[in-house]
Amino acid sequence: MPELVLIVVCIVAAFALAMYRAPLWAWAAGAAAALLLWQSGMLRLQLGPLPPWPIVLITWSLVAILGALSAPSLRRSMLVRPLYRKIKGILPRVSATEQEALNAGTIGFDAELFSGQPDWEKLRSVPPVTLTEEEKAFLDGPTNELCRMVKDWTIRHNEKEIPAEIWDFVKKHGFLGMLISKEHGGLGFSPQAQSLILGRIASRSPDVCTIVMVPNSLGPGELIEKYGTPEQKQHYLPRLAQGIEVPCFSLTGPTSGSDAATMRDVGYVTRGMHEGREVVGIRLSWEKRYITLGPNATLVGLAFRVFDPDNILGHGEDRGITVAMVPANHPGVEIGRRHLPSGVAFPNGPNWGRDVFIPIDWVIGGEKMVGQGWRMLMECLAAGRSISLPSSAAAGAKSLLRNTSAYARIRKQFDLPIGRMEGLEEPLARMVENAYVNEAARSVTASMVSRGEKPSVISAIMKYQTTERMRRSLNDAMDLHGGKGVCDGPSNYLQTAYQMMPVAITVEGANILTRSLITFAQGALRSHPYLYKEIQACQDPDEERGVEAFETAFLDHVSFATSNVFGALFHNLTFGLFAHVPEKAYGTAQWYRQLSRSSRNFALVADLAVAVLGGGLKTRQKITGRLADALSELYLVSCVLKRWEDDGKPVADASIVALSARNGLYRFQEAMRGAIDNFPSLPVRWLMRGAVFPLGAHYKPAPDWLGHKCVELVLTPGEVRDRLTRFIYVSQDPGDPTGLLEVTLAKVVAAEAAEKKLDRAVRSGQVRRVHGTDWIADAAKIGIVSDEEARLLHEVETLTARVIAVDHFDPAEVKPHYMTPGHNTLAAQSAAAE
Ligand SMILES: Cc1cc2nc3c(=O)[nH]c(=O)nc-3n(C[C@H](O)[C@H](O)[C@H](O)COP(=O)(O)OP(=O)(O)OC[C@H]3O[C@@H](n4cnc5c(N)ncnc54)[C@H](O)[C@@H]3O)c2cc1C
Repeated sequence: MPELVLIVVCIVAAFALAMYRAPLWAWAAGAAAALLLWQSGMLRLQLGPLPPWPIVLITWSLVAILGALSAPSLRRSMLVRPLYRKIKGILPRVSATEQEALNAGTIGFDAELFSGQPDWEKLRSVPPVTLTEEEKAFLDGPTNELCRMVKDWTIRHNEKEIPAEIWDFVKKHGFLGMLISKEHGGLGFSPQAQSLILGRIASRSPDVCTIVMVPNSLGPGELIEKYGTPEQKQHYLPRLAQGIEVPCFSLTGPTSGSDAATMRDVGYVTRGMHEGREVVGIRLSWEKRYITLGPNATLVGLAFRVFDPDNILGHGEDRGITVAMVPANHPGVEIGRRHLPSGVAFPNGPNWGRDVFIPIDWVIGGEKMVGQGWRMLMECLAAGRSISLPSSAAAGAKSLLRNTSAYARIRKQFDLPIGRMEGLEEPLARMVENAYVNEAARSVTASMVSRGEKPSVISAIMKYQTTERMRRSLNDAMDLHGGKGVCDGPSNYLQTAYQMMPVAITVEGANILTRSLITFAQGALRSHPYLYKEIQACQDPDEERGVEAFETAFLDHVSFATSNVFGALFHNLTFGLFAHVPEKAYGTAQWYRQLSRSSRNFALVADLAVAVLGGGLKTRQKITGRLADALSELYLVSCVLKRWEDDGKPVADASIVALSARNGLYRFQEAMRGAIDNFPSLPVRWLMRGAVFPLGAHYKPAPDWLGHKCVELVLTPGEVRDRLTRFIYVSQDPGDPTGLLEVTLAKVVAAEAAEKKLDRAVRSGQVRRVHGTDWIADAAKIGIVSDEEARLLHEVETLTARVIAVDHFDPAEVKPHYMTPGHNTLAAQSAAAE
């Protein structure tokens, strides 16, 4: 019994020392005290004989080592300096371009999740969605008008082009200059407003959204606004804001896609003639492809490597990646024809040039910004990736939910709305969750950017997660619609998103790369509390300074790691009962508690993964991909809680919050399990498993009843359905395929009681529902439904027939016009070459 007490006391003391991050001397003192107690005469009588002397000797030696390491000078010479030199070789090697990517952007709430002890108030301090009166008026005025103008089928099928009146409208109302400051003639809208405007347009037409999105994301407008010279700002920004200039941004080439920094596009600094006089400039050769708006652009933003062989600029030969704007009509600039990406209508194509001379003034920011291109791009991307694609992916998930849930209530099979069948409830519940989560994360992240953050890691999470969730919602929507979703035509409201989805997955960092390489590796380096400091210390050319900085970071890192092992074990053994919950967490306490616990687990595993994999982080992508998933789930569930709080905790939405939190935590657990089970080092795997899953994996996906409850909420028009799909464009025009759904849904719900009476009469054979009869009139005649009910049922019948109808065409109507002879497809080119 006394042995047990001593063991328990030692364990409790170790937990306390670890969790309060006690210094080394405290550990040494604690261990010495425990040994002395054991050896003291009185206790020895009760505890029985001492263990064999070699064990006693080893234990005292360990205590002595701990004690010695507590002395700073001994510690540095015995441990820190040798370790510093060794770690220099183990830590991931960071190339210059990676370093620039790492330095770009800000660290925010992601660091809290990496810390294992998130400060929830930091997330709560992010403002809820706020718009100025002017932004609100723009969203409800010109944005809605634009949405009303859009005829999706005409755009993506009949014309395969954005119509001139749409271009004129967006130029006239300043849509192309939302991010350009008012001072320079733009609208100067906040990122939150831009995100909502883009989302509303995307819910109507991804094609039209693209032509507005591109000038408002990474490209000449943003780059000149942030880095341009006063002359460049004065000349170009008002022209871009008014649409006098149409910009494109050319980074990707045939050999440099995801690995864009390895581009072969090159510029040599030289002297040449420009507008009749000799100036310093750059002789450029490049080949770019996939460039959105390229075929229509008047101003080409171009990224290329600069060499200065004659040292004209005085900073050496290899100057690095640079961005310039080149007028599309400049001699030598070749704007190619069009690619046809996934059936979309927005302009996209290649451009190239050989030995094209441009004056140095065309470099964005002028001569001093030569070689600064990659940093500029990474800084803009860190913020931009949080806005452009997440806004359309959130809007997509919401409009898919709105349209599909309406269809699922209208469409009946086996005398039942298909949405009420359990098999279809499953995908519908997923769609509810995706719409809620995407919007929660979109609004929180856009608010972060609006208050000046450039969250590089969170933006990668957002890009991947929101587009993947929208893709899942799309697949679910297609399944739910059956043949109605498959057959294209003016009445198909799914195909436009279905065709466009691969574009969102591919651009701004293709999704597999973003998940498996960028999110965790960049997160570990940027958001980890000590790793980046250690790397920077190891890269310091001054060893003394490096060792000093390394020592501070390393000691903190060790106590952080120890506290994570004990902290994770403690919270997992107590099922998170004592994990941190912020104040005023009524209704959300259980989820905060589990998030705090999960964050501890993540911090432990992430830390060990980085320490063990080191430079292998880039190649162990199955591990880093799963850890990216785990981190993402923590972020998304945190956003869900924030959204609910920002919305005033509406009771009606509580089940959607529970559904999202349960599923998110379950996916977090599975991602962690996958990473741990496949971790390449056996002892580390055991340590991770022992600390994270000491009692097994206990999170379960949301139960069926909860999914059922959430689906019921969205099948019925009302405040929950409206909140779930807020900010998108909702047509009430029965002449529009989505407006028709809205009008019909309202009538279907109103006619439900009468419909039931009619169904019963059909089942019992009182009336016959076959072509050539008016069964509703028959039912009214024998008093099954009243005349008023019959009128409503007739109306529903007509509207429903329109909703479920699909289009059909003459063969000549559907022949693609670009397949006519003379069009230079690749096949035609190779045929001509032969
Ligand atoms: C419709 C459309 C519009 C576009 N608009 C523009 C534009 O306006 N301007 C512009 O400059 N570019 C544009 N792009 C280019 C786009 O950014 C690239 O397509 C993208 O960067 C991927 O490059 P890639 O297509 O060459 O694929 P690749 O780089 O060949 O990638 C193929 C696959 O490999 C994966 N992958 C590659 N490297 C890694 C790695 N290290 N680890 C894990 N996975 C990896 C990728 O995720 C992808 O799944 C556009 C592309 C499309 C299709």
